[in-house]
Amino acid sequence: MVKLFNDLIKEVTTPGYCLACGACVASCPYESLAMEGETPALKKACMNCGICYEECPQVIDQRGLKRKIFGRRSSDEEVLGIYRQALSVEARSSDIKARAQDGGAVTSLLASLLEDGFIDGAVVMGVGALPWQPFPKVATTREELIACAGIKYARGPLFLGLKDAVDLHYCSRVAIVGTPCQIAASRRFVLSKLTNRRLSEAIRLHLGLFCGHAFEYESLFRGVIERQLRTPLSEVVKFDIKRGRFIIYRRRKPRRELALEAVKRYACSPCKVCFDYAAELADISVGAVGSPLGRSTVLIRTQVGSEAFDIARRFRELEVLELEKVKPGINVIGKVSREKKLRAAGELKRLKLQGKTLPIWLQEQPPAPKEEELLRSIAQL
Ligand SMILES: Cc1cc2nc3c(=O)[nH]c(=O)nc-3n(C[C@H](O)[C@H](O)[C@H](O)COP(=O)(O)OP(=O)(O)OC[C@H]3O[C@@H](n4cnc5c(N)ncnc54)[C@H](O)[C@@H]3O)c2cc1C
Ligand code: SF4
Ligand code: SF4
Ligand code: SF4
Repeated sequence: MVKLFNDLIKEVTTPGYCLACGACVASCPYESLAMEGETPALKKACMNCGICYEECPQVIDQRGLKRKIFGRRSSDEEVLGIYRQALSVEARSSDIKARAQDGGAVTSLLASLLEDGFIDGAVVMGVGALPWQPFPKVATTREELIACAGIKYARGPLFLGLKDAVDLHYCSRVAIVGTPCQIAASRRFVLSKLTNRRLSEAIRLHLGLFCGHAFEYESLFRGVIERQLRTPLSEVVKFDIKRGRFIIYRRRKPRRELALEAVKRYACSPCKVCFDYAAELADISVGAVGSPLGRSTVLIRTQVGSEAFDIARRFRELEVLELEKVKPGINVIGKVSREKKLRAAGELKRLKLQGKTLPIWLQEQPPAPKEEELLRSIAQL
């Protein structure tokens, strides 16, 4: 039976598992959906095609996607997922380094790919109407990429950018940059049988970001930072998370710091049951953890990822070291990734004990012999 947008409301948005990624909205061929704040909503008659349901990453067991991409599941030891190369890199260009979050790997790589013609656009996260509120942008030039560099720690409807890339910018070879959950959605576009082909056929590269949590824009950024700390978001030049601190850099003023533990209470609710730290479904994953300050860790996972990274090497945009040559190195990423999986498994267990609605893909699993076994297998995903 084909599932429809009503099923997404029932299974994803109502129980609080919606990522506000906009994949359902962008994919609807009849333009029946729109984002209302962070929630997708029906605006016109639904034509019952079922595509929006098939693009949503929150209704499936993502291990199935892993098998389709890599031909197998990761083993219990592969806590960062399957990858072929682990590197630590730094942008050579000062214009990129000045705006980048860490080593500028993402922006440099995309700049090389645009120059080469491997892609003709990148869907990246800029800011919306309010300061530091993420909103997708289509970058077709190096300048546009640099304007969107740096991390916004809330979440935005990334896939509205994919639709713009195809419909407004006529892109046909697009890189999607996103958090692990957004990469899962973009893989759904490409791998689902029932999909919006106009959009999915334009996706050429999945560039994932390591991700601990995303935070609620209203409660953390507007509520705590603007109102309680009396720090106008317009004077913030960068947010960062390093060594257990949430750091707020202000223009011409001393930085402020909050304990990450205290900030975690503002994590978006699906993040609490998310088990993917290292963007395990991406072609290339990039993060800060594992590398020294000012550099980015890069995990190359697929053949397309290798081809893309070789282009960046050719353009000499990046200074590249093997990750094993730097400290703290790969083990620390493995530790953080494992902790995230365990945290998600613990939260799912807590929700189950409290009789709360579990994610639909867990409800639809064939009954496991023992609940403990199921939770253990989730922790090892
Ligand atoms: C919500 C969030 C949480 C993260 N948590 C961790 C973590 O726990 N550990 C870790 O090592 N790394 C984490 N990262 C990734 C890390 O902060 C850097 O993105 C990574 O090191 C790349 O740095 P860079 O200098 O190469 O990126 P840059 O060259 O500065 O490029 C960053 C890219 O990220 C995109 N982007 C910015 N904000 C968002 C967003 N909200 N959603 C989707 N895309 C976005 C931008 O469009 C840009 O293209 C997180 C990223 C996000 C978005
Ligand atoms: S028409 Fe199709 S894609 Fe659009 S809302 Fe209905 S089921 Fe979803
Ligand atoms: S596709 Fe994204 S925005 Fe739509 S219901 Fe699923 S998680 Fe929410
Ligand atoms: S923690 Fe998971 S659900 Fe939350 S933004 Fe990161 S990848 Fe998405």
